Amino acid sequence: MRDRLKSQENNRDRGIDKLGRSMIIKNLEVNCIKYPVYVHYENRKNTSVSIGRKSINIRIPSFLDREERLGQYLEMMKWARKKLEENPDRFKPCPLKEYNDGDTLKIGNGNYSLRIELKDKQSSSARIICNSVYLTISSYLTKEIRNKHISTLLSRCIAKKRLQKLEEKIHELNKLHFNQKINKIFFKHNKSNWGSCSIAGNINISTRLLFAPEDILEYVCIHELSHLIEHNHSERFWAIVEKAMPNYKEKIQWLKENGYNCGF
Ligand SMILES: [Zn+2]
Repeated sequence: MRDRLKSQENNRDRGIDKLGRSMIIKNLEVNCIKYPVYVHYENRKNTSVSIGRKSINIRIPSFLDREERLGQYLEMMKWARKKLEENPDRFKPCPLKEYNDGDTLKIGNGNYSLRIELKDKQSSSARIICNSVYLTISSYLTKEIRNKHISTLLSRCIAKKRLQKLEEKIHELNKLHFNQKINKIFFKHNKSNWGSCSIAGNINISTRLLFAPEDILEYVCIHELSHLIEHNHSERFWAIVEKAMPNYKEKIQWLKENGYNCGF
């Protein structure tokens, strides 16, 4: 569910001779910032472009001829340029979060106070007591690794605390709208998607959603539950989502505009 554009149109511009390999690396320069662009040729029906934190990815169907590929490529580059010009902040590379003893963490509707203690030992640990998170962190780590460590520990222990609520929510939504067989529900500490589900009926929800409002989390749950019926993003799939959540498009918009701010 990243920012993306799909197109089925085939433009007929002429030019470029380098296209044709399976992947090409280019640059797109906007306001003096160079963004790496990966152009992939794949066995797929439509062209798509997504702007990620690290790169822009253009995916073009490999069955198209050279002219058509070029046309698609130019169209996607134009779209990416427009997006980057309109909203440069949104696509800035994510700065690493910093954590300090005494910080307050706002997660969903709750606040946690953060207590960090450095100790001369190899391992780190975390526990939650009431609304305080107590972290014992190895003093041998560099500042950068320490912050990464803290982010993973926080994500794990807060997800553990919230898992039961998530399970209740998903089962309730399932009972209300879907009636499918659910196997296991997990929080995943990942940045690549908001949620995913497997044929076996496992549902994964990204811990980044702990930072999102309740209705946004609910949308992602509905999205994944709908995949238990339709394992694709067809019109039939979106009709199922819409039936359970008529204003789901507003939630997608929220994720597009604010999603980059969510996370540990
Ligand atoms: Zn999906």
